[in-house]
Amino acid sequence: SLSIGIVGLPNVGKSTLFNAITRAGALAANYPFATIEPNVGRVNVPDERLAALSKVFTKGERVPPIIPTFVEFVDIAGLVKGASQGEGLGNQFLANIREVDAIAHVVRCFEDGNVIHVSNKVDPLDDIETINTELILADLAGLEKRVVGLSKKAKGGDKEAKEQLEIAEAILKVLGEGQPARAAQVEGEVPKDFGLITNKPVIYVANVGEDNLASDNEYVQLVRDHAAKEGSHVVKISAQIEGELAEMEEEDARAFLHDLGVQESGLDQLVKVGYDTLGLITFITSGEKEVRAWTIHKGEKAPEAAGEIHSDLERGFIRAEVIEWQKMVEAGGWTTAKSKGWVRTEGKEYVMKDGDIMNVLHNM
Ligand code: GDP
Repeated sequence: SLSIGIVGLPNVGKSTLFNAITRAGALAANYPFATIEPNVGRVNVPDERLAALSKVFTKGERVPPIIPTFVEFVDIAGLVKGASQGEGLGNQFLANIREVDAIAHVVRCFEDGNVIHVSNKVDPLDDIETINTELILADLAGLEKRVVGLSKKAKGGDKEAKEQLEIAEAILKVLGEGQPARAAQVEGEVPKDFGLITNKPVIYVANVGEDNLASDNEYVQLVRDHAAKEGSHVVKISAQIEGELAEMEEEDARAFLHDLGVQESGLDQLVKVGYDTLGLITFITSGEKEVRAWTIHKGEKAPEAAGEIHSDLERGFIRAEVIEWQKMVEAGGWTTAKSKGWVRTEGKEYVMKDGDIMNVLHNM
């Protein structure tokens, strides 16, 4: 599944947002896995297709349960100005942030005289720079250590080390200029074990008061301009409102959002943008037993997707029955869909599409 780390200066609304996430998660469907860390919250990926399919496979009183996929949010506390100097960023902090797939960078865009700002004024661009600088410095320190080892190996004639060293040096140069690692033009893939933070995609989360949900204020505009230059996404959110939404029934929440002049909750938007940013898509398994969504990367083939369900299904994959979800809704079930010829038989080379329903035929 997808994991997003929440970072930002103190007092920008991170905990408020994280609390909304954990509350939303606690109310949502029961998850297939039991225990999670206290700094991790799960949010279902909103997907109206699942409800439509659950109706299709309802037999009398028996409504198949819907199991959506989820996004994990990790509360990454402990980032303040100067954190990378002196003591250095805490090990726990680094371990947490290195594991996530993407970063949600919360930026304060609300005015409130009662809430102290760490540098005494609301200044989103300055805040963004402060955080980004700390992350760049953390990457610099980590990568410099790495280069020492790689140099030794490269001198000893290790070809892979030599290639990695070239990548590391290109990235070091960019970091040294105060740019994030993702700005570096490198040939080949950046090794995962470089543990870079600034190579991950960033989504800026502009935290506003409820008055500015429908219309941007000047701070949000600044964040949008900055993000556009970087090629990053922005999601506007009111952390306080998200907290209230998390307590409501779906109907009430929708009416509340409508009154505020918005279509979708900030959290739902954040989840969707996270999906897009990382090139993730959903496929579905569907029948009378359950209707379930699964997350895969764009471009994944049928056996890999099957492996998401169970590793045995990837190994024992023979072929798959595939149908687009709309066609299944139209047909009203597998039998009719098959008799209409809408269920295709796909082999090992089939590239999965968003919204495919798949039934794996296997020899396990
Ligand atoms: P953190 O330090 O980044 O985790 O920030 P918190 O979530 O603890 O928020 C700091 C303070 O700002 C708290 O008193 C929140 O109630 C308040 N706060 C958070 N979001 C908003 C908002 O959208 N509007 C207003 N007025 N206050 C907010």
